[in-house]
Formats: sequence, structure tokens, C-alpha cells
Amino acid sequence: MAYSYDPENIFAKILRGEIPNNTVLETAHSLAFTDIAPQAPTHILVIPKGAYVNYDDFATNASDAEIVDFTRAISKVCEGAGVEADGFRLVSNAGRDGVQEVPHLHVHVLAGRNLGPMMTL
Ligand code: 5GP
Repeated sequence: MAYSYDPENIFAKILRGEIPNNTVLETAHSLAFTDIAPQAPTHILVIPKGAYVNYDDFATNASDAEIVDFTRAISKVCEGAGVEADGFRLVSNAGRDGVQEVPHLHVHVLAGRNLGPMMTL
């Protein structure tokens, strides 16, 4: 489906330098920074620099270079945070039912404790 991107979302403002962030990693096409309200000892958000609403939008419309860069950026974040050995969780919420707060694709990297069951309803 075609997604409509809101250039005033908070991560677009971070990418434009209008709002500060605690950068963990920056690559040609991606940015990673700590979550402002961490849900785990390690809680890092990885976003593409391009204007994509969610993972579906990104996978459909991004260039191969962006997709490779973003995928590897997530891996580098995990490596940099030293979480591979004990494990981690990647989450990307989308839309209403996914309870997506910020309409710019982001992958949550969560780690540093046993994260429990995937969902509690
Ligand atoms: P979502 O619910 O869209 O998957 O997650 C959005 C995430 O962005 C939340 O975990 C929230 O804490 C985080 N967040 C919202 N505003 C800001 C901000 O201004 N800076 C940072 N670093 N994180 C933010």
C-alpha cells in the first residue's frame, strides 16, 4: 500500500537536527540512538535516514543500498552494545494495531535482562 509520511514526526526532527539525540551509531543511510524512555537496560532505536513510515514501506520502496545499510546497522548496534551472547529482541511497531507512536520506521533493540514473554495481553 502507499503510505503518507508526516515530515513533522519526532524522528524526522531528530534527523534534521532540530531535536537532540544520544547517537549510538551513524551510517550512510541509518541512525541509531538511545530511547528516551528505556524499557530495558539496553534500549536503542535504529532508523533509516529516508522517509519511510514502517517496515513494509521501507522493504517495498527503499533502495537495496538503504536496506543493506539498515540491516547491518542493527547488527552493528547489537555488536556495539555487546548483547549478542546473552540475547536481544528486535521490535518494529506499525500502525494502529501495532501501537506505533512515531510514524517513521524504527527498530527497537531491547536487551540487558530477560525480556519475558513476547506479549502480555
Ligand atoms: P513506537 O511506539 O512508535 O514503536 O516507539 C516509539 C519510541 O520512541 C518509544 O519507545 C519512545 O520512548 C521513543 N521516543 C519518543 N520520542 C522520543 C524522542 O524525542 N527521543 C528519543 N530518543 N526517543 C523517543
